[in-house]
Amino acid sequence: MGEKKLPYTEKGVLVNSGEFSGLDSETAKRKITEKLEQLGLGRKKVTYRLRDWNISRQRYWGTPIPVVYCQKCGIVPVPENRLPVKLPLEVEFTGKGNPLATNEDFVKTTCPKCGLPAKRETDTMDTFFDSSWYFLRYTDPKNESKPFDEEKANYWMPVDIYIGGIEHAVLHLLYARFFQKFLRDLGLTRYDEPFERLITQGMVLKKWVSIRKLLESLGLNGDSTVGELLEKLRERGYLKE
Ligand SMILES: [Zn+2]
Repeated sequence: MGEKKLPYTEKGVLVNSGEFSGLDSETAKRKITEKLEQLGLGRKKVTYRLRDWNISRQRYWGTPIPVVYCQKCGIVPVPENRLPVKLPLEVEFTGKGNPLATNEDFVKTTCPKCGLPAKRETDTMDTFFDSSWYFLRYTDPKNESKPFDEEKANYWMPVDIYIGGIEHAVLHLLYARFFQKFLRDLGLTRYDEPFERLITQGMVLKKWVSIRKLLESLGLNGDSTVGELLEKLRERGYLKE
């Protein structure tokens, strides 16, 4: 009954839109934004949104989540003076489940609040949690009292060039930027962005050529001279005089 009355929400051509009628929706978006800017009623802005991020997983390799479970107090964060919670070294990898969960020395602890027996959280944080700020630790790797010294970090940061695969563009880069902005808001760094430039490996790899395979395809080998190589390339029409 009312279905026909619902507004059209897909891309298309604008109708009954005054001076914007007849424009396709992409062009119209731009023109309407320009108009709003002219009228001083709004402006164009790019925004990013970080999706909810589940950082825990059931693996040994990762940063322990500093939380214990007490029968009396419930979930209790490990206080700062008891950090860091370190991964145990005596661990049995059976290929089944999380090896931390079966490690009694790690699991059994006492509650920091009441001192009664408690159980440690056995999930660990995913590795993005470390990779989102490790470059800051590189600026002060031997600091025993805090993650890094603010002055040292401000001296070395931001990173000049970030080299990585394009798959990092929507995950690691956003997480690292989120961490950077969070640390900046805490007053721990002055920089707004962690990386100055981005080079994705994919761009380089596309141009990559295996020299050995190239030589083989030309009937040459590692002992061939550059002259022989040029000769063959010329024969095949790969080189123009
Ligand atoms: Zn307790």
